[in-house]
Amino acid sequence: MKGKVYLIDVTNRDGVQTSRILLPKLAKTMLNTYFDEMGLFQSEIGFPTLKHEVNYINANLELVRLGAIKRTHLEGWCRAIPEDVQLSFRNCPQLKHLNISISTSEIMIAGKFQGKKVFKDLLKSLVESVKTARELGAETIGINAEDASRTELNRLIEFINAGKEAGADRFRYCDTLGTDDPITIYERIKTLALATKFPIEMHCHNDLGMAEAVSIAGAQGAIECGVDSYINTTVNGYGERCGNCDLVSTILALKFSQGLKNKLPLDEHVDLKMAWRLARYASYAFNIPIPINQPGIGSNAFAHESGIHADGALKNRRNYELYDPEDVGRGEPELTETGRVITTGGYGGIKGFRHVYDKLGIHFNTDNEARRILELVQYANLHTQKPLTDDELRFIATYPDIVQLLLTVKI
Ligand SMILES: [Zn+2]
Repeated sequence: MKGKVYLIDVTNRDGVQTSRILLPKLAKTMLNTYFDEMGLFQSEIGFPTLKHEVNYINANLELVRLGAIKRTHLEGWCRAIPEDVQLSFRNCPQLKHLNISISTSEIMIAGKFQGKKVFKDLLKSLVESVKTARELGAETIGINAEDASRTELNRLIEFINAGKEAGADRFRYCDTLGTDDPITIYERIKTLALATKFPIEMHCHNDLGMAEAVSIAGAQGAIECGVDSYINTTVNGYGERCGNCDLVSTILALKFSQGLKNKLPLDEHVDLKMAWRLARYASYAFNIPIPINQPGIGSNAFAHESGIHADGALKNRRNYELYDPEDVGRGEPELTETGRVITTGGYGGIKGFRHVYDKLGIHFNTDNEARRILELVQYANLHTQKPLTDDELRFIATYPDIVQLLLTVKI
């Protein structure tokens, strides 16, 4: 079988645009570095047309140039209109990957444009946008059909072919309202893949509680027709309304589901062992607790109490566990300081700062260097509004110029 499943995480776009939750730019940056460590194919980093994102995006693109982010494509999202594409590259000249989005369903086109635009107009805008992105240096372009699940297949085929001819690389099927079911999406994606032979991204929402099942069924449809598939995920499933397809659950399903494990080849770079660190960091940064029954990550994922279960699990863990805590990077005891503790942050001074960094094994050559990093730590702490993690402190000391850019306001 040809074709693989690649992962594109959209936490830094769909996750942060969600009502009532958001991330500081430092946390978005940390997520991008974790995604790279985890071997994900791509991170949708945000909105290059939005002013407050520009310094953050440019700082992250600089991390790619420095080799600090090696594998993961950092991709921006904008509307499929040429002016947005031009503004994206004007704001972020080093941008190499872009997904452009437009509604395709009649219900959205009629409802949003109220007769001022019809599908043909949107198609024209899509084609011009793809060509503009290519001219401005885009290396890969994804074309997103918003509300694809409520769009007729013939129209989607027309959309894909138009984008493909203009120079796009992938098609994103957005189940924007989370209305698809696994069997329907499997059949629909097969039809699209057979008709166009074009790689397909699955972007599915969780309004019916089926986001992972639907994403994977769609990917299976694509793979069976010999085209690559890309599943859009978010960490802990954060996303619009009821959320998106959860990253860790998706990897677990691809690796351990009895019907899937030998059927859908997952990008071999993906390292599930990063799951625990990543999910816990995202929970901390978003300020949202992880449910105790969260697949792989919840505190009950490997807990057994009832008589028959505990007895069975003690005799052989495979009686009641599909996978091991170590598979998702768990199992190490965690040390929590219960006595005296020195922290550094917004109102910290040089002595406490040096103490904290000494414990991390980071020493500064000169006083000037130490004082500069301290100032960045102070600003970063005011920016995140919660104690900086060890990884954040390390990142600030390693990439001070990047952090300074991240924390800078540009009007
Ligand atoms: Zn979405």
